[in-house]
Amino acid sequence: MHNEQSYSYQHILDAFTQEQLYLISQVKRFFEWYEGDADFRASVNTGRVNDEQQRRMKQIGIDFPVREMALVWENPEIIKECISPKRSSEHADILIKHAELLHDYPLLELWLRFILRQRMRIKEVCKQRRLPDSKNTRFENWRIRRIVSAQSELGGYGHNIDHPILALELSEGCSVQCWFCSFSAQKLGKILDYQENKDFFRGVARACADIFGSKAAGLAMLYYASEPFDNPRYIDYLRDYADITGAVTCTSTAVCADKKWIDDLLAFYRPYNLPWPRLSVLSTKILHKIHDQHTPYELRDVSLLMQLKDSGQPKVLGGRILAQKDDMRQCNGKNDLQGSIPQGSIACVTGFLINLVRKDIKLVSPCYVSEKWSCGYRIFDQASFDTVDDFHSAMLDMIERNMPETPPAHMPLQLRDDLVCRTAEKGFDLVSPNQIHHFQNKSVFQALGELLIKPPVSYADAFDILMDKYGQNPLEVQAVLKNLFNNGFLDEVRFSASRF
Ligand code: SF4
Repeated sequence: MHNEQSYSYQHILDAFTQEQLYLISQVKRFFEWYEGDADFRASVNTGRVNDEQQRRMKQIGIDFPVREMALVWENPEIIKECISPKRSSEHADILIKHAELLHDYPLLELWLRFILRQRMRIKEVCKQRRLPDSKNTRFENWRIRRIVSAQSELGGYGHNIDHPILALELSEGCSVQCWFCSFSAQKLGKILDYQENKDFFRGVARACADIFGSKAAGLAMLYYASEPFDNPRYIDYLRDYADITGAVTCTSTAVCADKKWIDDLLAFYRPYNLPWPRLSVLSTKILHKIHDQHTPYELRDVSLLMQLKDSGQPKVLGGRILAQKDDMRQCNGKNDLQGSIPQGSIACVTGFLINLVRKDIKLVSPCYVSEKWSCGYRIFDQASFDTVDDFHSAMLDMIERNMPETPPAHMPLQLRDDLVCRTAEKGFDLVSPNQIHHFQNKSVFQALGELLIKPPVSYADAFDILMDKYGQNPLEVQAVLKNLFNNGFLDEVRFSASRF
């Protein structure tokens, strides 16, 4: 199995002794309870954890006295500073800065070392997975354009996406129906029956490995706007996919109270030392059930993502709860948004979203939620298929249709639909929901800025107009247009749509 995640996660585990890992898993559980239960959080914050809560600590496998965590109520700012996502890249410095204080709280210090290493690993893995890996160059260049485009639109959030290239849904819809579902998942419909479709599924996996190469085809997930639990043979599909591509893929599930399901997932991932599955916790009651049903050490590598209403984690305002919020485009230099730009999407796939029940394919990439792209991803193209052979050719056709190596002459020179173009000092600014890109102090930028705020012309016409009407140097014109294309500023959806 060629899973780089397994290697890097093992590297983290190797930095700690077995005994330390037992302790870490207990501190992890303490903070899960703290995060997911408002009553317990209030007790901890005031330093008054009552007898019953202390008994429950023991009952769910937290063996240390609550006093070990006293820093949480005595000096909460230190904890916040240490675990703030903004600071994780400087983790060594933070621990050194607070070394003296943390010395009195060895369990907290141990846990902080563990989670800060984990954060660094996640960043590193995301970076690695964004690198070109596919044997299909057209697709790879398109993916790179979409990745920079997502970073431009989503800002800091965009840098934490690992951009898997494939999502293969094994059911129609989702049984969980979360109130906040940013993908607006429909009610559960048909399931991809394993007995009937084993060969079909393996054929699709083989086609993906053939088109992208086995390693790149491993950048996949077997769910998206669907719930893995809904397909009773989900783990068999995971096994088949790993068998063909060599990659063990991740699982996130919101069905956490079913002990057998979680035990089966743990058993599947255990031999690979991977930090999976990930559990989306929808209520405090479910959190308690998880803690009752599994020991801290069993869940050592499992992230609990708190999706409770009162968890304080803001939801992405897309899909079922679509709402517009202010972003950088409303900021005109005089008003200040005071750091309130929301996370713009929960989407991650930059490539193909495939539903194996409906037998349809969408070419997608993450973007900032809007009325038009309410699920937080753009759809560039769609196709349907019947057999594995159809699937193979539909995928190649979509690559051919939507992924030119260079901007075709007839492609409209039109900006991405999230961008606002504002004229600026000898040039222009492109304002995305999360960032401003400056193109200033060059006559070619000034000419291009004037062109971009007019109705769009074709790429070839733009080239001629900039040279003939604005008298710009052809090499500079070529470079600046290429820059717009390669950095994902141009609207390739409309270009794609004009072709099908
Ligand atoms: S958020 Fe996930 S689990 Fe919840 S309804 Fe949407 S797809 Fe299903």
